[in-house]
Order: sequence, then C-alpha cells, then structure tokens
Amino acid sequence: MAHDVAIIGSGFAGSLLAMIARRQGRSVILLEKGAHPRFAIGESSTPLSNLLLEDLSLRYDLPGILPLTKWGAWQRAFPDLDCGLKRGFTFYHHRFGHRAATSANREDQLLVAASPHDGIADTHWLRADVDHHFVREAQKIGVEYLVRVELDEAVEQNDEVRLHAKRQGRELQITARFVVDASGPRGFLHRALGLPEIPLPDFPPTQGLYTHFRGVERLENLFRRNGAQPPYPIDDAAVHHVFDGGWIWVLRFRSGITSAGVAMVDSLAAQMRLHEGAAAWERLLERLPTVRDQFAGAAAIRPFICAPRLAFCSGAVTGRRWALLPSAAGFVDPLLSTGFPLVLLGVARLAKVMEEHWDSSEFDARLTAYSQRTCGELFATARLIGSLYAAMDNFPLFVSLSLLYFAAASFSETARRLGNPHLAGSFLLHDHPALRTQLPGLLERARVARSKPDAENLREDILRAIEPFNVAGLGRPERRNWYPVDAEDLLSAAQKVEASREEIRDLLDRSGFWARGASA
Ligand SMILES: Cc1cc2nc3c(=O)[nH]c(=O)nc-3n(C[C@H](O)[C@H](O)[C@H](O)COP(=O)(O)OP(=O)(O)OC[C@H]3O[C@@H](n4cnc5c(N)ncnc54)[C@H](O)[C@@H]3O)c2cc1C
Repeated sequence: MAHDVAIIGSGFAGSLLAMIARRQGRSVILLEKGAHPRFAIGESSTPLSNLLLEDLSLRYDLPGILPLTKWGAWQRAFPDLDCGLKRGFTFYHHRFGHRAATSANREDQLLVAASPHDGIADTHWLRADVDHHFVREAQKIGVEYLVRVELDEAVEQNDEVRLHAKRQGRELQITARFVVDASGPRGFLHRALGLPEIPLPDFPPTQGLYTHFRGVERLENLFRRNGAQPPYPIDDAAVHHVFDGGWIWVLRFRSGITSAGVAMVDSLAAQMRLHEGAAAWERLLERLPTVRDQFAGAAAIRPFICAPRLAFCSGAVTGRRWALLPSAAGFVDPLLSTGFPLVLLGVARLAKVMEEHWDSSEFDARLTAYSQRTCGELFATARLIGSLYAAMDNFPLFVSLSLLYFAAASFSETARRLGNPHLAGSFLLHDHPALRTQLPGLLERARVARSKPDAENLREDILRAIEPFNVAGLGRPERRNWYPVDAEDLLSAAQKVEASREEIRDLLDRSGFWARGASA
C-alpha cells in the first residue's frame, strides 16, 4: 500500500491532520490500533485551542469540524455528541483535613472567565464521541482508515518510510512519503525507532489517577453564597482543587458524566499508594472534606486508570520523512489544558510544511524548525507548570504565576483574532523578546520563594512583566481573584495588540461577544 501520507493514531489530532492532508490533495492512510468509539483522556478545550481549530476548519474547508469550536454552534449542529460547558477556569485551594475556604476576601480561590456567555463558550469533549466524529469526517473526504492495525516496524528508506503491521492475521506493508505519529506519548515511532526519552526541565516527576463518574455534586450547591455573583457558574468550568503536591480536575458533561482525576508529585503518590486506584482515590478524598462532599453521591462508571508517569518528552521529534505530533513528542500535565493548543499548533505547522514545501529541498529544514518549536514550547510549558507545582502550598503565589498563563493566552487569542498572529508567535509567549529574558528568572524565584514578602515581591514583578500583554485586567486588586470577560479591559488595551478601539469593537461584534445564547 503506497500513500503520500500515513498517520499513526486516530485521536482527534491525527484525524484532523489526515483531513488537512486530503484537502491538500494527498493520498492519506490513517492507522489505528484500536477502534472507535473508545475512551480517551484529555477533554478540556480553551479559547486559544478553539480559535486554532476554527482557523484550521475554515482554511481547509472542514464544515463538519467548525461547529465544535463553540458551545452554542456545537449544540445546534451536533446535539448527540456529548460535551460539557466550559465558561472558565475555577480554582479552589485546600489544606489537608480542612474544608475549602470560601471567605469574602477570596484568597483561596481564583475564577478566570474564558467567555462572556454560553453561546461562544469553550467545551469539554467526551472524547469517545468527538474522536469518533473526527474520524468519520476524515473518511467522508477520502482518508483511508484502518482499525485494529498492529504496527511493529518502521524503516526510513531514501524518500519514504516503510511500515510493517499485522491486521486480522494478515501482514501489511505500507509505504508513505511522509509519516506522522499521532499515537500519543511513548507512542509507536518513539518505540519503533528506539528514540531516547529526555527529562522535561524543572518539572517534578508526577503520577495520575482518573476515571469518569456519575452523580458528582455541583460545588455551588455545597458553598454558601456570600453576596457577590461569580463571573460565571463556578461548575460550568474546568474545576481545579489544588493542594500541596497535586491537584484534582472536575469536568462536567451535559449527559451527567463527570471526568475527574488527580495529578500529584511522586512523594504524595507514594503516601497515597496511588497505584491502588479506587482505594487511593477514597484515601485522597478523606483528606479533602469539600471534595469528599462533592463526590459523596458519585460512582465511577469505568475502572480507574493509573498513570505511573504522566510527563514525557521524546529526545527526537522529526526525521527526514517522519514527524511526531506535539502530543506524541511530549506531555507535561493536564493543568491549564495545554495539550490541545500545543497539538493544534503542531498540526497547523505540519500542515503548512506539507502545503508549502512538499516537493522542495526546504522540506527537511522546515521539519527541523518544527521540531525546535515543538521542543521549545514543551519546555516552556514544563517550566511554568513546574513552578505552579512548587507553589501548590502557597496559593497567592500560585495565583500570581497562573496570571503568566492567562495573560499570554488571552493576548495570543486577541492578536490572532485581529489577524496579527506574529505578535504572539509562540505558545505562552515564551520566546517573545519582551518576556524571554524575564521568564526564567521569575519562574526560578517561584520555585524557591517561601516567605510572604518573597511572594508579594514576585507578584509585583510578574504583574510588571505581563503588563505589555495584559488585555484582561489581570491582577487588578479590586477584582479579588474573580476575572470576568470585560469588553472594557480589551478596549482599553487596544494598543497592546496594535489595534484601535474601533478594531476591537469590530472584533467583539464579529466574535459574537454580545449575542447572548447565540453564537457567531
Ligand atoms: C490525564 C490527562 C489529562 C489531560 N487533560 C487535558 C485537558 O484537559 N486539556 C488538554 O488540552 N489536554 C489534556 N491532556 C492532553 C491530551 O490528552 C492530548 O493533548 C490529546 O489527547 C492529544 O490528542 P491526540 O489525538 O494527538 O492523541 P491521543 O488522544 O493520545 O490519541 C492517540 C490515538 O493513537 C492510537 N494509537 C496509540 N498507539 C498506536 C499504535 N501503535 N498504532 C496505531 N494507533 C495507535 C490510540 O488508540 C489513540 O486513538 C491530558 C492528558 C492526560 C494524560
């Protein structure tokens, strides 16, 4: 079987790149070791990931994917594909043995809205449904799709890669001019080509435990209201319960399913005996009374999955005729939902390489550049999330550090929406000239800051560093850790994204900012 492009792994990203390659006129084969529908983890989208997906859907004419980029459009187009409403990022800090504090000063919580109303909100994806949808869309436009393929060998030869597999007892020989591995961390090519694994910089070893539940209580039913209205319903979000050494995520789906799990450093995982699965989950909740209450009536609907090592980084990302998607090249942590934007940035970059350099002598050099950017972004993500782990016992510091993420993400989204993507070329703006020199020092200080004055000084320095990118009113003391999406923040920051107030107003109109319940 000879193809232009072979893609290994039919998660949403593999199927998406397969569709794009088809639209570019290539013959494409998509190889999956299992079959859909199947469980997959990695469920929470963000404004930036939805914008990247929207850009790709429009650029490569994928009308079956476009509605998935906003809650409202999704409900209208695909009411049968399960998803959850994500209006923002909700964080509560917990001390072992104590209930989460919900005092009026809001020192132990952080709410960052990602959208002004449900219509254009982000979503949690029930991956069994969504990945199945992506692969059906790929088949519709002529991607050849094979399930239950047991790949066992990959050999690079001159201008092609030869793959060997077994399927239904038969040998399969597939050659392709370009092979993309979308089979996830420690995936097929990493193993078949014997690529080295390298450590992520400044990131602690962590483990994970997760499953799907039914019957998880909404936090808003557990907390007593003390006056002010939060910027969005706190449960219609990616909910993070943060504690010393780790954090729990809670993502609710429309169908009543809730995805929840925990990521934690090795020392805590050993104390909790995380490898024991359900029993370890119960032990952890015993230490977190508020979360225990939230899960009091809940039942797991599938076995717990224990991940003894969450983070991963491959020592090589590309060869002459192959590339790993960012999701196969590495993974840091579910914190801040960085997986989707990283992989979508990678899909967009590989799409461009295939589109512009397929037959040119530049192909190799472009792949090398892709590899460098992929590693640079993974490393930057690791450094930021590593410093957040170091601050999980110091929530004010955790909040300050997370503003680095929210400032970079909202600035990047705005710049891209305005058609100025060059202002935000790298994920987390990690190689932006104005941040590049400051970031390492700030993150290093966060890893060692212990005293209150240290944390306060660092907050001031972080706020100064993000000022040129802060288009969301982040850090304003009167907001007391609750950040709505406020049009005036964007309007008054227009010059930071090289725009006029008029252009920002147009942008808000175009993106459906004002249209309650409807989507652009
Ligand atoms: C615990 C956890 C939570 C996460 N939460 C989030 C989140 O909330 N938000 C976010 O943005 N990111 C999150 N991520 C990251 C997210 O999972 C990935 O970014 C995303 O799944 C990447 O999608 P993908 O399609 O590239 O690969 P995957 O979803 O990993 O799909 C890989 C596909 O390849 C197939 N495959 C594997 N091996 C082979 C083989 N040998 N041959 C053929 N096929 C193969 C698999 O069956 C699967 O279908 C999380 C990750 C983890 C581990």
